[in-house]
This record gives sequence, structure tokens and C-alpha cells, in this order.
Amino acid sequence: MATDPAAPDQAAAVPDPASAAPDQTAAAPDQAAAASDQAVRALADGVLAGDRAAVARAVTLVESRRPDHRDQAQQLLARLLPHTGSAQRVGISGMPGAGKSTFIDTLGSNLTAAGHRVAVLAVDPSSARSGGSILGDKTRMTRLAVDPAAFVRPSPSSGTLGGVARATRETMLVMEAAGYDVVLVETVGVGQSEYVVAGMVDTFVLLSLARTGDQLQGIKRGILEIADVIAVNKADGEHADAARRAARELSGALRLLRGAEGDWQPPVLTCSALHNTGLAEVWKHVQRHRDKLLADGRFEAKRRRQLVDWTRSMVRDRLLEQLDTPAARALAADAEQAVLAGELTATQAADRILAGLPTAGRP
Ligand code: GDP
Repeated sequence: MATDPAAPDQAAAVPDPASAAPDQTAAAPDQAAAASDQAVRALADGVLAGDRAAVARAVTLVESRRPDHRDQAQQLLARLLPHTGSAQRVGISGMPGAGKSTFIDTLGSNLTAAGHRVAVLAVDPSSARSGGSILGDKTRMTRLAVDPAAFVRPSPSSGTLGGVARATRETMLVMEAAGYDVVLVETVGVGQSEYVVAGMVDTFVLLSLARTGDQLQGIKRGILEIADVIAVNKADGEHADAARRAARELSGALRLLRGAEGDWQPPVLTCSALHNTGLAEVWKHVQRHRDKLLADGRFEAKRRRQLVDWTRSMVRDRLLEQLDTPAARALAADAEQAVLAGELTATQAADRILAGLPTAGRP
């Protein structure tokens, strides 16, 4: 079976020697640590060998929020790290209905047919709230879901956008270590998630639909500022002309927005994900973008910058998570009550809340 076997029941299969052998933990912590180390090593070997079941278990491990799993995940990633970084990382965004899953299914199939191994990940901010994901859903990518050279993983539901982003970044490393040389990260073009995805990929593709004039206003300015390649999808049948017109208008709008002097003018193309036309051209420009970054030395700089940004956002996220515990919320409520009653100044209340936060680095 070629589909991603990482169903929720895989959580049980995550190597967790500490809980598998509770007696040992109590009697001989060294022994438990050694067993854990061995399990992580075996998992790393499985991932590096490209074993699908091991990849699925590794992804479940990095998505887990359990502190002992987090430790094991970091040990695993440390082992995998020397084998990461070589994949082409591409973000794909667009409003619901723009054709993202159709596009990824078709593009991904073209790429596996050309000999690539393709991983599809997703950052879905709503999954953090609902616990379910509409992105990266295998039923939406019917060809890739059964393609042995592809691995489709739905968006993790890790509580916050920061949590989802962390899990997705780490999953990307697992995929690279397993030999997937193209990683496509899907996100919806609403909210903050497109910035998060732009911060973890080399090239960011925006899928748009034919819109003209005033409708262009509907495309968020922010997303046009971060897009490296834009494709107007559904350029087929009776919509083909409208799509081409829209692409010209969008191209003009983009020049106004980003100026003609920039070192990279995002191309605005048309394509039909449904009929597999124009996708080769889109991919060619994705490659051209990567080649340009590589040629002027900005590729490495961009990746390094992303790591620093990621570090910073993790620090912010963990601090915010500390405020989001029941104890911290109760402390804040008391302090706020005291402010309302005139018993504390705002500064005193803030000091009291901050002083009550756990100081450990991990939530
Ligand atoms: P998503 O929400 O962005 O993932 O969009 P989907 O890939 O689910 O596509 C939404 C609808 O548009 C589906 O009914 C697709 O069959 C259709 N669709 C996607 N791409 C194309 C295309 O290139 N041409 C046409 N005509 N329809 C398309």
C-alpha cells in the first residue's frame, strides 16, 4: 500500500521505550535511556533507508507534543540533520477553490513521472483549532496518494499556528532525510499561514483565479508581496481568455506594487491543473527562481535567515504558551481583578503575572 500509513493509531507505534518498560525506568534510568537511544537510532536508520513505515512513525514522533516524545524527536532530528537540506522546498498557496489540491496532484505526478520523489505537507491554521485538516488530505490528491514515489501528509493539529509550523518544518527535515527531493507545502491564502510557509520554503507559488479590475483588490496585497511565481489556474475551456487577461492585469499590478527594479520580477503565468497544461512552465519558473538564488549566493543566506527567524518565533511561541496554561490564566485573572479593584497598579499586576510563569524553556 503506497498511501501514507501514518494514521492516528501510529501514535502508539512511536518508539517510547520509557513507557514500554516502566520497571526499567524506575530501576535503571540508564538502561531506559540506552533503550530509548537505540530506538531512536533504529528509527533514524529506517528513515534514511526510505522505509515508509519508519518515515510515518518519525513524522508522528515530531508532531507529538508529549515532552518525552519531544526529547526523542530532537535526538532523531539531530541524527537526520546531516542528511537534510537538499530538497527543493516550494510553498503553494491560494484561496479555497483555487485548485491547490488539483494542482499539487497533477504537478506532483508530473514530478514523480520525471523521477523525483515528492513529499506534500500542509500548514492549515484551522487544523490547530478544529483538530482536523482540510489541507494535505489524501482524498483530495487521488493520484499522489497512491504513488509510491510520493508521501502526502495532512496538516498537523498542534494547538497553535506556531505548533503546526514547528511540526511541519521538522517533518520537512524527516522527508529530506528519507530522500524526498521535492517538498511541496500547501497552505490556504488567508490569515498568517502563508507567511509561515513563505518562511520555510525556497520558492512561494500563488495560485489565483481569473479576476479583473476591482476583483484584483480581493487578492491580498501581502500575498502578492511574498509570491515568487504566480499562476492563474483554470485557464481552460471558456475561461482561458479571461485567465490570460487576468494574468496580464495581475502582472501590471505586480510591477506597480513591487517596482520594476527588483532583482526578481515574479512571472504571472496561466495553467490548467485539471488538464495538465502550463504546469511544466510553472515548474520551469520555480526552477529559474531557485537557480537565481543559487547563482547570486542568496540561497544559503535565505535558508540561514529562515533558521534564525524560526528560532525567534519558537521563543515567542513558547513564551506565549506559558501564558496559556490553566495556572497562568488563573494568576492573570486574579491580578487583573486586583487591578480593577484598585489594589494593584497595572505594572505591579504584570510583574506578578510574569513572576508566576514557569521558567523552564519548554511548555
Ligand atoms: P483547493 O480548494 O484550492 O484545493 O481547490 P481544488 O483543487 O479542490 O479545486 C476546486 C475545484 O476546482 C474542483 O472542483 C476542481 O476539480 C476544480 N479545478 C481545479 N483545477 C482546475 C482547472 O485547472 N480547471 C478547471 N476547469 N477546474 C479546476
